[in-house]
Amino acid sequence: MELRISNLSKTYGNGVVALDNISLTIPTGMFGLLGPNGAGKSTLMRTLATLQECDSGSVFLDDIDVLDEKDEVRRLLGYLPQDFGVYPKVTAYELLDHFAVLKGLSNRNRRREVVDGLLQQTNLFDVRNQRLGGFSGGMRQRFGIAQALLGDPKLIIVDEPTAGLDPQERVRFHNLLSDIGEDKTVILSTHIVSDVADLCANMAIINKGHLLLCGPTQELIHEVSDKIWARFIDKRDLQSFQLRHPVISSRLLSGRTLIHVYSETDPGDGFEEAIGDLEDVYFATIAGRHSAAATCD
Ligand code: ADP
Repeated sequence: MELRISNLSKTYGNGVVALDNISLTIPTGMFGLLGPNGAGKSTLMRTLATLQECDSGSVFLDDIDVLDEKDEVRRLLGYLPQDFGVYPKVTAYELLDHFAVLKGLSNRNRRREVVDGLLQQTNLFDVRNQRLGGFSGGMRQRFGIAQALLGDPKLIIVDEPTAGLDPQERVRFHNLLSDIGEDKTVILSTHIVSDVADLCANMAIINKGHLLLCGPTQELIHEVSDKIWARFIDKRDLQSFQLRHPVISSRLLSGRTLIHVYSETDPGDGFEEAIGDLEDVYFATIAGRHSAAATCD
């Protein structure tokens, strides 16, 4: 299914412009929505999930008017919110079974089949009779996906799902999402660049309510690949490098400070050509150094 967002805007009562005229089209498969904290991601996710009103604009899921035909959208939607709370005293099986009843699965045998299937798919079948209060962060997120998949949704929205997961749990969660993403539209909202790099064929970057960049992930990476230059510096010299060069990132690597600059030509000064990756796309875009030819509206 294709999700077409046109000129979507939202200003909160306190005057914060959370979405400023956002237009983008999201195709089937995994789509990454990347931006720093406060960018407007959750506002956009909640609007698409029919949980919040916007001020203006339109959203269509194929020919369904998302902002108007909310019940219709909810039938096709699975949503894992940023702060997915669980009831600590009930077991995974009991809560998923309860959600299944709420989704309208009234036939007991059919419901057992669906619930067992989802617990297996999310690798929670062996712990289905344990209370959710004892689950790790990763198990809880997988349970969140299991509930989001009830009713065989065509559009799945997951908001900041891997924050707080350890590396092993993240890999597990990524594998689960990529299996789902094959025949559904999955929107993954995150501030973690590697989540998008690992999973999403298409993506967008938003900041301060603005859409800054959008397109196929590999194309966006290709566009910066020959514009990134790197060198190690003494960290006391960072400011002077920032004054002389368009520095987009600085980070520690094995205890040394590595900086990247964005430049169409060789900046000299001891820099060497680096192969730009999605982190470079992200930092160059957020820093206002880079905009891309690829679009998706
Ligand atoms: P993100 O998910 O990218 O962190 P949000 O959509 O949560 O961004 O927030 C976007 C901006 O809107 C932030 O500046 C945030 O403080 C503000 N904001 C979010 N929710 C509300 C609200 N209910 N009332 C007022 N301001 C809000």
